[in-house]
Amino acid sequence: MSVVESFTKLGFNDPPAESVPVKSLVFKPKTPKSATPVPIVVVALQSTATPSPLIAQVTSSKDPRLARDDLVRDIFKCESAKDFNLGYLSNATSDFKLLIDSQLEAVEGATILKLTDDLFMTKEILFKFLSEFDAVRQSVDFTQEVKSKDQKKGQQPKKQDSSSAILEDAKLIGITVDKSKDFPGWYQQVLTKGEMLDYYDVSGCYILRPPSYAIWENIQKWFDEKIKGLGVQNAYFPMFVSSRVLEREKDHIEGFAPEVAWVTRAGQSELEEPIAIRPTSETVMYPYYAKWIQSYRDLPLKLNQWNSVVRWEFKHPQPFLRTREFLWQEGHTVFLTKEEAEKEVLQILDFYADIYKELLAVPVVKGRKTEKEKFAGGDYTTTVEGYIPQTGRGIQGATSHHLGQNFSKMFNLTVENPKGPEYPKVFAFQNSWGLSTRTLGVMVMIHSDNKGLVIPPRVAQFQAVVIPVGITKNTTEEQRQQIYDSSKSVESRLKQAGIRAFGDYNDNYTPGWKFSQYELKGIPVRIELGPKDIKENQVTVVRRNDSRKYNVKLDELEKRIPEILNELHNDLYSKAKELYDSHRVLVNEWKEFVPNLNKKNVIIAPWCGVTECEEDIKDSSAKKDDGEEIAVDEKAPSMGAKSLCIPFEQPELKESQKCIKCDRPAINYTMFGRSY
Ligand SMILES: [Zn+2]
Repeated sequence: MSVVESFTKLGFNDPPAESVPVKSLVFKPKTPKSATPVPIVVVALQSTATPSPLIAQVTSSKDPRLARDDLVRDIFKCESAKDFNLGYLSNATSDFKLLIDSQLEAVEGATILKLTDDLFMTKEILFKFLSEFDAVRQSVDFTQEVKSKDQKKGQQPKKQDSSSAILEDAKLIGITVDKSKDFPGWYQQVLTKGEMLDYYDVSGCYILRPPSYAIWENIQKWFDEKIKGLGVQNAYFPMFVSSRVLEREKDHIEGFAPEVAWVTRAGQSELEEPIAIRPTSETVMYPYYAKWIQSYRDLPLKLNQWNSVVRWEFKHPQPFLRTREFLWQEGHTVFLTKEEAEKEVLQILDFYADIYKELLAVPVVKGRKTEKEKFAGGDYTTTVEGYIPQTGRGIQGATSHHLGQNFSKMFNLTVENPKGPEYPKVFAFQNSWGLSTRTLGVMVMIHSDNKGLVIPPRVAQFQAVVIPVGITKNTTEEQRQQIYDSSKSVESRLKQAGIRAFGDYNDNYTPGWKFSQYELKGIPVRIELGPKDIKENQVTVVRRNDSRKYNVKLDELEKRIPEILNELHNDLYSKAKELYDSHRVLVNEWKEFVPNLNKKNVIIAPWCGVTECEEDIKDSSAKKDDGEEIAVDEKAPSMGAKSLCIPFEQPELKESQKCIKCDRPAINYTMFGRSY
């Protein structure tokens, strides 16, 4: 009796009163000619849709199509695809994959399944038969959505780069893409494998997992305390804004209009008037400011909110850097005088610079945005600008805007004149300022490496992991116990000392496996404790960023670990600063501009301040006109240079110095660069 006959014997041929139809389909993925195809057999309820993109996704295969007769014949010895039934699986002459519909799995055992027109079998018996193939069997929820193209890119490095960028000693669990060769692929892996974030089924939106949210909380905590010191209070305004209010400030709405997401329907009914989701909250808040502020004694008013905003961008999304919804804080303050307002703009900017430097170990350049790049509707914008060495691109870190009286005039935010009621009413002076979760992306891009994340200790969710080591077959139970007890005591002493520490005492994993895990996750230091350490009354401390080792005496633990964490922070900062400093190049001649840009530099150049000239610089630097290799960038390999800021720290401008691009006299040095 053939295997197929014995399979059919498991069932019966007469149609029962009731049965549930089941399909079994064979797919063939796209396979190079030189390789043997690995067919994918799908067993599903007839009612379950089994789209081939989803099959491709769950099996990591390419473009699966229904198999033709020749494949079914070659591998399962079945004459034609239409004759195929699951009995032929026992005939398989080479590898195949078996996908089982999870809805079919959920069916009760006694249910009679209709496998073909004349083959019926209980679910229980079918699954008993299928259990023979457990090694290749995979349960699939076919109701899940197929991930978009963007997301798939996130899971897998890009084809064109992947072969050369694959790390030689990479294990699958770790990072498999080289940061220096495929930066976008590396960035996506380091974030997902390091468990910072996950991709989501709405393009441009991402899930912040606990390790990244903890970093955000640490930033929040620090900044919240600083602004409260200035008298800022937190509040919360709704995320919805009516079109009437949103469109009140013309320049402002023009700046944001293309990215505003609108709610137009509730359930099945169209809304009478569409409602926008805030891209920022100036127009949400200011009508109420106007209502609350009656007298100059009500000033200053300083509110901040920790919230999320939505900007529906169509440019290529990137985790943390360009996302459709992001977390941030937005501060909105109102003053009687311009002087007070302007003073605060810079105080806030200093806080932002300190978040980068003191918390994230990232160097930034402080400056003012040009007219073209300033906040829509404001008077001027100050900014902190960072730099990503791998791509040579600048990145805006956070901005603090002086809005002047533009919004107070639009929203009629006036107070009686302090000089007396006979004088005209005074329009208030306003600021707004914001810092977002983009900070996290900048931090990851700058410090992390091919082993995974490198998280600066002051923001890391966990700063130290304690790992018992050196336990072998020959270790006595007593010694083992001693190592574990000492490790736990180290952990609890660190916690007592205010260090965010945890221990990993899981026996099922080797210390080596644990080391790679916590390197992947970027825990700043690991503390090893083994027989030798116990003898020496010490622990071995290893820094994540450069594997530097320290022996720390147990009685110095509380003193030394914070010192080592601080040194680590300082070293991360110095290394990043050196790179930024050496790639910020002073250029006075246009012919030097593009070649220097192509060497992954940002450029400080004398400039006339005219918007038209700024646009010309962008266009003229977009061409690959000198034949040199330029920064690897998936979207815009020859992207032009934008103005990043007019740095507060200015090189001395020679008298009669011309603009780098045109014949007008230069009015300052401006920083230009390709940017995010
Ligand atoms: Zn010019």
